Amino acid sequence: MSNQLSRSTKQKAVQLKKKLKKTLEKTLKKTKILVANRGEIAIRIIRAIQELNYEAVAIYETPDNESRHIRIADEAVWIGDGPRADYLNIDKVIDAAINSEAIAIHPGYGFLAENADFARACEDAGIIFIGPSSGVIDKLGNKVMARQIMAEANIPMVPGSQNLQAGDAGLAEAAEFGKKYGYPIMLKATSGGGGRGIRRIEKEEDLAEQYPIARSEAKAAFNDDSVYLEKVVVQPKHVEVQIIADKNGKTVHLGTRDCSIQRRNQKLVEIAPAFHLSEAQNNEICETAVTAAKAAGYFNAGTVEFLLAPDGNYYFMEINTRLQVEHTVSEMITGIDIVRTQIKLAMGKELLFDQSDIKMRGHAIEMRINAEDPKNNFMPEGGKTVRVYRSPGGYGVRLDGFCYQGFTIPQVYDSLLVKMTVFGWSWNETVDRLKRCLTNFVITGPKTTIPFYLNLIQDPDFQNGEFDTSFLETHEHLFDYDEDRTEVNKLARLIAEIHHKGENTYAA
Ligand code: ADP
Ligand code: ADP
Ligand code: MG
Repeated sequence: MSNQLSRSTKQKAVQLKKKLKKTLEKTLKKTKILVANRGEIAIRIIRAIQELNYEAVAIYETPDNESRHIRIADEAVWIGDGPRADYLNIDKVIDAAINSEAIAIHPGYGFLAENADFARACEDAGIIFIGPSSGVIDKLGNKVMARQIMAEANIPMVPGSQNLQAGDAGLAEAAEFGKKYGYPIMLKATSGGGGRGIRRIEKEEDLAEQYPIARSEAKAAFNDDSVYLEKVVVQPKHVEVQIIADKNGKTVHLGTRDCSIQRRNQKLVEIAPAFHLSEAQNNEICETAVTAAKAAGYFNAGTVEFLLAPDGNYYFMEINTRLQVEHTVSEMITGIDIVRTQIKLAMGKELLFDQSDIKMRGHAIEMRINAEDPKNNFMPEGGKTVRVYRSPGGYGVRLDGFCYQGFTIPQVYDSLLVKMTVFGWSWNETVDRLKRCLTNFVITGPKTTIPFYLNLIQDPDFQNGEFDTSFLETHEHLFDYDEDRTEVNKLARLIAEIHHKGENTYAA
């Protein structure tokens, strides 16, 4: 008897083998998550995706051709020449996800992160949006509507108006508000964000000029000219609370952050926990934040922002429906990986830990190292090439960045190069460590905020926690610093200037 197989049986066997291989490949194929962002935050998210054993899909516009995030991703999709327009193009981003078979999208911060239409487009396309629902983003993205929800939940707030009418009628409403509550008052874009669309009005006479400007600015920035009024909290601290909620409504907080040190209403330095709050006050603010999140039906990670007045009263400002730049400081004091948690919650997991499991310890300070010239009104230094990049390391030092030696910073995006987050068990230890890191951090090519920060952290008011949102305006001497800080820095700059290049190493 021959044990030769017939030709047709052989063919069948070959086909079966092929089919089996295909099925196997499909089973083994990793789930993909697309990151709809760039820069340091894209890298932060890609790292978390890969740690969870998913594959990360990056997207990029032409000016980001050389960016680090597309090198460390498992796959990268070019979505257009940009600049910015393609990162903001909902159709293109959704297309990239569908074509690469990503099942979920993490929006990061900025760009489409707080765009309810984008979250809705994901929902419609059957893609998991790693963040709250489009409905929640809609409600909270509108500052007047958010205030309404918070008022119903008895969350403390500064007096504020509804949306003002256009033209003279609105002007009259504003004048009446000013009379009733007293100046200064704040004109704020209802759809505002990122510190833009905020105008402080010192006296009634300024209203006629400022009101139309505020409206047209709001229109230009947010495609919505609605503005409303808030009474100004004088010399406030910006105190915010990181919250995390699962789909069952279980909501926990990861403590407070102080983000008072700002320029142009934008944060520069963030501290966790908010320094100089009594334990009782810290707990009260955190519990209020959880109540606020629950009132909004919040899901996933978010931030509840408050203003803390010198008299100890605090007032709700807004809920940011996304991951914040400064989430790292909360991670350092709680040990919780917020991005990992975000992804797991979006994938349908429940929060496995309770509030009582979250132990906060020590202090963390984050400094946003921007390619900017503080002495020149923080003018961006984009377009310049990083000639030398030597970052500090060691105990308690965390760097979230995306730049490397030889990298030319695109001019068309924000100026954040790297976030340096430093942990210490005591406040003094944290400040000492920061000082060491700022002294040793060498970046030449663009000017950066590093020497300014070195000056700032040695200021006695900073060290004593005596700062509010006007800190930079009231401490002009902070701008008086030596660009080079140390001899090493000076030499690095001089050598870089001679050679105009550095070895292509990557750190952080
Ligand atoms: P954005 O959405 O742009 O972040 P916010 O409402 O959070 O706007 O305000 C940003 C910053 O503007 C705050 O951190 C604070 O410094 C300042 N600010 C906003 N509203 C007030 C107010 N009513 N009184 C005093 N400062 C305010
Ligand atoms: P996993 O570590 O398997 O992702 P979880 O989803 O429960 O587990 O936790 C998400 C994040 O929270 C992780 O970074 C984890 O280290 C952190 N975490 C979990 N439980 C606790 C806890 N009791 N205290 C502090 N952090 C925790
Ligand atoms: Mg804000």
